[in-house]
Formats: sequence, C-alpha cells, structure tokens
Amino acid sequence: MSTAPALVWFRRDLRLSDHPALHGAARATNGAIVPAYVLSDWKKHHRWTGEPRQRFLCGALASLAQNLAALGTRLVLRTGDAVAELERLLEESRAASLWFHLDVDPFGIATEQKVIAMAERRGVAVHALPGGVGIHERGALVSGSGRPYQVYAPYARAWRKLVVPELLRAPRGRLSTPADLRAEPMPDGAHWQLPPEQTEVSAPGERAARARLSSFLRGPAARYAAERDQPAATPANASRLSQDLRFGLVSAREAWHRAARARDDIDDAGARQSIDKFLGEMIWRDFFFQVLWHHPEVLDVELNPLFRGLPWRDDPAALRAWQDGLTGFPIVDAGMRQLRATGFMHNRVRIITAMFLTKDLRLDWRAGEQWFMQRLVDGDIANNNGNWQWCAGSGADAAPYFRIQNPWSQSARHDPAGDYIRAWVPELRDAPATALHEPPAPGQRCAPDYPPPMVNHAHEREETLQVFRAHLTSARQKASKS
Ligand SMILES: Cc1cc2nc3c(=O)[nH]c(=O)nc-3n(C[C@H](O)[C@H](O)[C@H](O)COP(=O)(O)OP(=O)(O)OC[C@H]3O[C@@H](n4cnc5c(N)ncnc54)[C@H](O)[C@@H]3O)c2cc1C
Repeated sequence: MSTAPALVWFRRDLRLSDHPALHGAARATNGAIVPAYVLSDWKKHHRWTGEPRQRFLCGALASLAQNLAALGTRLVLRTGDAVAELERLLEESRAASLWFHLDVDPFGIATEQKVIAMAERRGVAVHALPGGVGIHERGALVSGSGRPYQVYAPYARAWRKLVVPELLRAPRGRLSTPADLRAEPMPDGAHWQLPPEQTEVSAPGERAARARLSSFLRGPAARYAAERDQPAATPANASRLSQDLRFGLVSAREAWHRAARARDDIDDAGARQSIDKFLGEMIWRDFFFQVLWHHPEVLDVELNPLFRGLPWRDDPAALRAWQDGLTGFPIVDAGMRQLRATGFMHNRVRIITAMFLTKDLRLDWRAGEQWFMQRLVDGDIANNNGNWQWCAGSGADAAPYFRIQNPWSQSARHDPAGDYIRAWVPELRDAPATALHEPPAPGQRCAPDYPPPMVNHAHEREETLQVFRAHLTSARQKASKS
C-alpha cells in the first residue's frame, strides 16, 4: 500500500456513499486522502448560474465537510482555477495519485483534460472514473449503426440491457489528511457577490437527499404514473430528487437500485409499473447527458440543423412578462412564480411554460434556457438544454413543432381545481376554477388585479405553425441543394 496521500477532487458528487473515486483512493492509501473542492472565482454574473443554486451548493459542501470530519478528515476548500489549485494541492500534500469522476458537459470535460495533463506531467497517477454523474456514463451506448441515439425509446431499451454497477459503501474506518494544508472557510452566496434572493431551497446534504428518496419510495412512488403530472399535490407526488442528483448528494445508481428493488418487491402490478415509470425518467437524465456528450454544439445551436436560424421574435417586454409570471395565463404565471419562490418548478409546468415561451410568444428557447439555469436549484446544463430543445421542437426525440400545447386545456387537465394556480398566484385566490382554464371574454379579466392574457393562443398557434413551416421548407430546400 502507498503511504503518500491521494488527492480526491470532489466535483458534482458531494457524498461519501457510492463514490468510486473516494472509495478507490481510501482503499489504495489505507485512508490517507486529501478531499478537495475548488470553488470557481467568477463574481457577480454568470450566464447560467444564480444565487439559489449556489446557496444550495454551499449547504451541500458544509454537509460534506461535516460528514468527512466525522471520519477524521476534512474538506480542503480552495478558490480559483481548478488546474492551478489542484496542482498546488498536489505539491503541498505530496499526493502520489489524483482521483475524480468524469464530467459530462463540455466545460467540465475541458477542465478535466487540463487537470489530467497537469497531473501526468508531474508524474502523478490519475484515476478519472465514471460513476459520478449519470448511471451509464457518457458514450456508453451507441445505436446499431454506430451513431449516437437521438430518440429516447431505443436508447432506453438498450440502456436497460446494461447492468447497473453495484453500490460502493462509504469508506469505513478513519481517514487522515495532512494537518498543515490550508483550507478556506465554507463559502456562502457572498463568495460570488450574488445578490441574495428570497428563494426557499430544499434542505441540502447527503442525509436530506437520502431521506427524500426514502419517503418517495415509501409512498408516492407506487402512484407516480397516475399522479406525477398533478402539480398541486403536497407533499409532492414525484421524488423531488433532482437537485440531489444534480450535485450528487445521492448517486443516481443508488436511486436506481433502491427504486428497482422497491419495484421488484411489490406485488401490485400497477404500483410496479408506476415505479418503473420513475426509472424511465431517470433514463431521460442519462439520455440528455449523452446527447450533450456527443453534440456539445447544442449549447449554441439547435440539435436538428433544419431548425437553425428560425426567426424568433425580439420582444424584451414579452420576455419580462414571462419571467415575472405576468402573462395573464394562470398556469404559466403560477409556474414562473413557483420557480422564483422555490428554485423549482413542477415538470409538467416546465413543459407548459417552455412551450408557451417558444410557441405562443415565439421567443428564442435560449432565453428560457438561460432564465431556468439562473433560477433552478436542479439546473443542469445537459438536462435543461435537452428539455428546452425538446419543447421547442428542435432537439432529440422532440415534440414535433406542429404539436403545440394549449395552456388553457393543459391547466384544466393537470390542475382542474386550480389549487396549484391559486397557491402561486394570490390575485386569483378567489377566482372560480372555470375562470382559470379559459380566456376571459374580450375586455374582461380573470380577477381585477390580474392582467388579461397577453396573447390569443389560437391566433399565435396558427402564426407559429406558419412561421415554422415556412422556415423548414426553405431549410429543406437549401439542404437539398447543398
Ligand atoms: C424546460 C425544462 C427544463 C428542465 N430543466 C431541468 C434541469 O435543469 N435539471 C433537471 O434535473 N431536470 C430538468 N428538467 C426535467 C424535469 O422537469 C425535472 O428533472 C423534474 O421536474 C425534477 O423533479 P423530480 O425530482 O420530482 O422528478 P421525478 O419525476 O421524481 O423524476 C426523477 C428524476 O428523473 C430525472 N428526470 C425526470 N424527468 C426528466 C426529464 N424530462 N429530463 C431529464 N431528467 C428527468 C430527474 O433527475 C428527476 O429528479 C427540465 C424539464 C423541462 C421541461
């Protein structure tokens, strides 16, 4: 066994259990490790980051630090460029090996490639492992023709044939870390100079995440298929695990294994199907990871080249109304206000609000993608982009552009009593349910201090169909000539 410590670089895997890098490093060095996290040093503004998610990250780091302390070690926090800080830590700790998990987005991948080059230059053994982010990592699956999957169903079928690796235990026994290593104090939102927001985020930490998973599997999981699309339910009838998976507070493999076991242990066929539906949603997560891994260009352009250059409208006032939840469409406004207040939005309502932005207002999906990334605590580059492109009709396995959802009938279907709407739009507290699911008569409003609908859905639907159709026709003609 080696006596030099191993440097373990935590990234989006802020847990002790089922952590292949930590597990491997602790075994290889008999517990002599340097657990490190490098905070970014950008300040104030970032296109895809906001205060609520950074606050959740701070809580998750504090919880990880506590859990490591309980094992006799400590989290060494540094700020700055990850490559430079890790090099400094290798130097200071005389670590002989570096352990971490591979990322899925192009920014993380670019950093890890530089980190690997730096460590190899120093003669440090690098263990860059899968298992930190998704279940089956990055390029694990390609279709029969050797090309990346762009449609979910065949991807999911192939995915389910792979064996999900067994879980690894958290290290047992004492861990030790050189005492003289400088560690910065735990950060708060002020670290990035982000203005604090009145957003109530979920409790962070590995224990809180595992408790959420357990309570979901004990109750709502068995009814998930039938009830997951009802945004009003409290407590939620979906898992509410997305922020935990985003920061790796619980591994996706653990969520998978525990849910699969719950499915297999249950006699009721409906409940079994329900839990299996949940497992199918977890596969969507890996699906979008692999879309981004194979097609990093989706962060700039539409995955489907025919949709590139669509004439989106430029209307900052309309965008603002959508962001502020003042569109006059109750279900859209409820979702946008839930997002602002909690850093979360129910999945069904994410679809409704995204379709509204792209198909009713005809505003560029990238504006919505950015707004969601700045506000969602679970904001994840791959899954946010994949879902936005799905809603816009330009992405992988997308809803076809001509399938345009009607926000009025969607709210009648998924929030018939209007409880979700009333919870987030207090101006509508006294409005009858019928008034929430259909446009008011011309010149009327749903409630005195609530705005009238900013557009006529039926009219915008026709316009959008025309604009999209014309664009696709011309894009196809251009493609056939070239
Ligand atoms: C426009 C739009 C943007 C989105 N942005 C994000 C994002 O940034 N980060 C994110 O994690 N999810 C995103 N989603 C997917 C989905 O809305 C959330 O994962 C889900 O609402 C989280 O709630 P939950 O944990 O209770 O989900 P559950 O219904 O309990 O699902 C379990 C897990 O499966 C995964 N999952 C479920 N649905 C999807 C999906 N459509 N795509 C990918 N994974 C899924 C999530 O990890 C989720 O935690 C987005 C969806 C839309 C329509």
